[in-house]
Amino acid sequence: MCGIIGVSNHPEAARLAYLGLYALQHRGQESAGIVSVDEAGVARTHRGMGLVSDVFGEGVLDSFEGSTAIGHTRYSTAGSSVLANAQPVLVRFRGGTLALAHNGNLTNAAELRRELVDAGAIFASTMDSEILVHLIARSRRPDPADQIREALARVEGAYSLVLTVNAQLYAIVDPRGFRPLLLGKVGDAPVVASESCALDIVGARTVCELEPGSFVRIDGGRIDYLDPLPPAPPAHCVFELVYFSRPDSLIFGESVDQFRRNLGRQLAREQPAEGCDCVFSVPDSSNAAALGFSDESKIPLEHALIRNHYVGRTFIHPAQAGRDAKVKIKYNPVREVLSGKKVVIVDDSIVRGTTSRGLVEMVRRAGAREVHFRVASAPIVGPCYYGIDTPNRDELIAATHSVEEIKTFLGVDSLGYLSLEGMVQASVREPGRFCHACFSKVYPTSVPLEAAKLRLEAGRERTHKGLV
Ligand code: 5GP
Ligand code: SF4
Ligand code: MG
Repeated sequence: MCGIIGVSNHPEAARLAYLGLYALQHRGQESAGIVSVDEAGVARTHRGMGLVSDVFGEGVLDSFEGSTAIGHTRYSTAGSSVLANAQPVLVRFRGGTLALAHNGNLTNAAELRRELVDAGAIFASTMDSEILVHLIARSRRPDPADQIREALARVEGAYSLVLTVNAQLYAIVDPRGFRPLLLGKVGDAPVVASESCALDIVGARTVCELEPGSFVRIDGGRIDYLDPLPPAPPAHCVFELVYFSRPDSLIFGESVDQFRRNLGRQLAREQPAEGCDCVFSVPDSSNAAALGFSDESKIPLEHALIRNHYVGRTFIHPAQAGRDAKVKIKYNPVREVLSGKKVVIVDDSIVRGTTSRGLVEMVRRAGAREVHFRVASAPIVGPCYYGIDTPNRDELIAATHSVEEIKTFLGVDSLGYLSLEGMVQASVREPGRFCHACFSKVYPTSVPLEAAKLRLEAGRERTHKGLV
């Protein structure tokens, strides 16, 4: 999963991209990067591992020039966590400079990569996004928009893209619209971003959300909505609304906050927890769902878990922190709230179950008398092939265990999941517009060849062994 932003026609394009990336930090903390392009088509780039604040110092921002820029925050899905896999990808090709930032995951990447490698292509990374660059560069069409279109005709899966060909900016959403992408404007400068919270931070007003299949060319201040990509039934990722996006964002035509409150209300109707003293969230991802649960059930909302916001992804656990170090370092219970109480924990989702189990133990140790766990989404039973880094099927607790078994594993007095129907009904839009494959195993595309994701992830090492 990733965050992307593009800016055109702005004298401080790279600075705007940088600000926008701050608001998209939650979408990827592994690496960040910006490419700026000046009027002559000369591109400058800076990419690094870590958070936006680590990667871009003041001096770096001064070195960017040009009124077009794109930026990316990365959370690795296809490809391992190394600098070579940081985006945007920047290359020189026949037509000048080409830079690309991709959010999503291509489902036929392994086949395409093999084909390109067989034809002599050299890859600098293990990312599926680099395949797109090769395909664009190979097109013999004279017009960049046609080159891009020709390349996209070959790929399948999820892609929201911002890309530049010289100083021209393109914003594209795959025909199913798995990942959000919005278009805004700050003055005369068009801005494209993964979530509306990134438009807000740069002071842009939202012009529109790019519908599935959108193909937009931005040249200076001019916005051309080109012919859309061949249509397919929409499949917005419901997990974006459940977990991934920021609650202050509007995506897929609705408020993430309102959607999550609706999840919580519906959860309270489907899985009541009568007689409990208080309900609380696992901050921050389930705050809005817990609010909705409390609102519907009339069980008072409490803050019973405090989250440490300063734990970086690369934090090394000191040995004395113990077995459940990961949980203890991130959360601490408020004993005064929990002591002697019958409590309801509302979380947005359970993936492996390990965090939740640690939390339950922590809540019990803090004195809770009964612990009732409520999940504001359906059991996750299948992997995602469209850009969310859910683990393999074997590691998904609900793929291999019944609700009763999970209840025992977590050590709770009761466990209740929201139904799939209840989940999609939380939307103000038609439920049929969503992808819910990881909850339903109904995949909207053909799924990659077995282990394709693994093969790609191991890309480089495998190349040495001659397997790719
Ligand atoms: P678990 O109990 O499965 O170990 O962890 C559940 C927690 O993981 C939930 O609080 C949920 O918000 C969070 N979560 C759900 N999906 C993801 C994801 O894709 N990445 C990360 N880092 N956390 C996730
Ligand atoms: Fe989203 Fe799940 Fe579909 Fe992946 S499989 S796109 S996480 S709903
Ligand atoms: Mg969470």
